Amino acid sequence: MLRRLAALAAGVVLLVGAAPAGARDLPTIVQRGNDYLESVLQTPIPDRPVTMSLFAHDECGPGVFVPDGCAWSDHIEVLPWVVTQLLRGHGKERAEAAYVLEHETLHRLQEDGPREEGVTDALTWDLQLGYYRALGFHGRMIQAGYAEEVQQVRWTSARATGEGWRTRPARLFRRELWKATPQGRDALAKAAWGN
Ligand SMILES: [Zn+2]
Repeated sequence: MLRRLAALAAGVVLLVGAAPAGARDLPTIVQRGNDYLESVLQTPIPDRPVTMSLFAHDECGPGVFVPDGCAWSDHIEVLPWVVTQLLRGHGKERAEAAYVLEHETLHRLQEDGPREEGVTDALTWDLQLGYYRALGFHGRMIQAGYAEEVQQVRWTSARATGEGWRTRPARLFRRELWKATPQGRDALAKAAWGN
């Protein structure tokens, strides 16, 4: 789940009017992103179609806010502005939309809650520039959606490797954390912090 409402207004405006011929199409965008993540992470990324949702029900997350996206085992739902920006957007709003798609794509659904969000969003942030390039554009770095949870993951990666969180060893540690089962994540965190 991820909440990024900054681009909402622009997205709604762009929804008006049919997509021009030769516009980007959503399945191709999703596939390019998945191919990139598979090649970097060396692990299969589930092929999940992306559908639009208004999240009218509290079916995704605790219901404390309306999320921009939600990952399920067989599909990914996003708010309309995300699709619109992916198909027809530019600049920062397009990058925000791609970030939402990347984040939901990276959810492994093995566990729920702050740690899953932190591990998922830390990796989303780490790989965002390559993901944008795979989708065919050069986006600027944008902030992580789950700042506190991501910082916890970065600290753990720094502690585990004895290097700064921006270093390659720490980045690789975060990939291992993402790939691990919940029990594996427990073990990696325990080894890092010694408790
Ligand atoms: Zn999430």
